[in-house]
Amino acid sequence: MYSQMKSYIESVLHLVYPNVCFGCKQPLLLSEPYKICTSCLTKTEKTDFHLKDFPNDMEAKLLGFPFLKRATALFYFDKKGTIQSIIHSLKYENKPFLGEDLGNFMANSLKESNFFDNIDYLVPVPMHPKKERLRGYNQAVMILKGIQKVIPLPYHKEILVKTEHTLTQTRKNRLQRILSLSEKSIFDTLSPEKIENKNVLLIDDIITTGSTLIKCMEVLEKYGCKTCKILTIGFAR
Ligand SMILES: [Zn+2]
Repeated sequence: MYSQMKSYIESVLHLVYPNVCFGCKQPLLLSEPYKICTSCLTKTEKTDFHLKDFPNDMEAKLLGFPFLKRATALFYFDKKGTIQSIIHSLKYENKPFLGEDLGNFMANSLKESNFFDNIDYLVPVPMHPKKERLRGYNQAVMILKGIQKVIPLPYHKEILVKTEHTLTQTRKNRLQRILSLSEKSIFDTLSPEKIENKNVLLIDDIITTGSTLIKCMEVLEKYGCKTCKILTIGFAR
């Protein structure tokens, strides 16, 4: 009775305040599972990098790491495109659920392939703690949570962390420190035993030059990671 009432109220509310797709801004159907419409998800160009020979266009940006097994992105990421608009909402408009939606959709798209085989840990690219506190969440972690609903692999926050060079930071004022967070930040680990001889899947929202992922792989390499795969939502070409 309660659930019938709830779904009736939801239907009426939907007529008055339709949920709109974060890609095309068109009203979503009640039956659509995500806050991104089926049309945006199916019509946006996929990379299908995981089906291509090594090195695909994404792996070509990340060469030089013998333990890199595969890298793939769900969609091509074009300026002013659908995915750009969704990722912008995810990162700057306090819409963490979009990360879960995209991660969930991506995992469902890849689960029939062997991409998720033989992985010990999911490792999201970390954000600087101060930046994460300002945003309220790390978008890569939200993508990871969406993936976990389909592929329940473990995640430990301390496998990859972002810290800052404290010496150079102390001489700056507060604004200078916040502005310089990204360039002065370094990646490291708090649990090397979860890297050594392990197979990890690195997760991020988009890959542009690949420099962030390369810095993460340098840490994984330093601590003896066995194999690494990489998964992002968007690939900027
Ligand atoms: Zn749409």
